[in-house]
Amino acid sequence: MSQDTGTLLSIDLNALLHNFLFFKSKLQSGVKLVPVIKAFAYGHDAIDIAKYLEKHNVDYFGVAYTHEGVALRKAGIKTPIMVFHSLIDDLNDSIDYQLEPNIYSFRILNKFIDVLKEKGINNFPINLKFNTGMNRLGFLKDDIPLIFEKITNSKVIRVNSVYSHLVASDDSKERNFTKKQINYFNEIREAVKKEISYPFLSHIANSSGIVNYPKAHFDMVRVGIGLYGYANNPKWTSKLKNVAKLQTLISQIQVLNKGDSVGYNRRFIAKEKTISATLPIGYADGIPRTWSRGVGFVSINGKKAPLLGNVCMDMIVVDVTNINCKEGDVVYIFDTQETLEELAKNTGTISYEILTAITQRVPRRIVLLT
Ligand SMILES: *Cc1c(COP(=O)(O)O)cnc(C)c1O
Repeated sequence: MSQDTGTLLSIDLNALLHNFLFFKSKLQSGVKLVPVIKAFAYGHDAIDIAKYLEKHNVDYFGVAYTHEGVALRKAGIKTPIMVFHSLIDDLNDSIDYQLEPNIYSFRILNKFIDVLKEKGINNFPINLKFNTGMNRLGFLKDDIPLIFEKITNSKVIRVNSVYSHLVASDDSKERNFTKKQINYFNEIREAVKKEISYPFLSHIANSSGIVNYPKAHFDMVRVGIGLYGYANNPKWTSKLKNVAKLQTLISQIQVLNKGDSVGYNRRFIAKEKTISATLPIGYADGIPRTWSRGVGFVSINGKKAPLLGNVCMDMIVVDVTNINCKEGDVVYIFDTQETLEELAKNTGTISYEILTAITQRVPRRIVLLT
């Protein structure tokens, strides 16, 4: 049975590779790059993207939660995977699926040491997360002596990396804060170096950190949004290629007369004769309800068609009065970086949220020109 409703998210792997190589080109040789493929690779498709990047020599993948890593392992991904937000109950899966947990508190450190001892495992790789200003997760520099007392005594853990996360790498008004974060992170690295004899990796930069703070590349960088074509800044975004296009089609065209309404609760009432097009995509696919009543728009045959009435669960209706189109025509919700940025701006959000909000009901179609 076909699941095809005409709605699909196409994913251009050539564009993804372009972006991956763009970020690589910004790095000194030897600096590792971690593609961040959490949240279904920002709504794209984590498994297909991981399989593709694995062929292009990636050092690591980054995911947010352990179950995201488990799904990649079950799909055959062999590359090391770090899990940014490991939880106490996930630690057995970390071991069984060889996923490197990030350890950010004494509670999870103590628990992991116990779990590893119980299983008789030594030198299990982990990443230590430090809080340098985000104030969400992480140890502080003053915790270092106690952390390493526990790690050195138990021998069950090997610290693969020490890392932190920049708060405002995309915001030029916060340069001083970012520099302070980087300096504090440097102090943390130095303090860790005194505690362990083997080499470890240090990393703090995300996509914007890579382009805006070359001194913050350290040994490794973590690229999320940039891989998918967005760089928090038009100058850099223009150097990247758009990976995802969300498209649907016109299922029906209707003619509304003055006074006719559209959709639930009659939130659009025609002031004059209006031609509408109904599209098989709604909030259950990831079209935010905040796009209702003309806030959002779609593109049909190169023209913008604003939304009429409220976004429904499975449908939206758009105004095509001034657009030459017919039933069955392709409709783009977004097909360029500019459109997605404009939609995000109109609705007070960011590209990240629109991409990750596209639900699993929307089929993903991989495009790979060889
Ligand atoms: C999501 C995430 C990233 C990627 O950030 P982008 O701004 O998308 O490049 C990097 N590091 C951590 C810890 C993250 O959670």
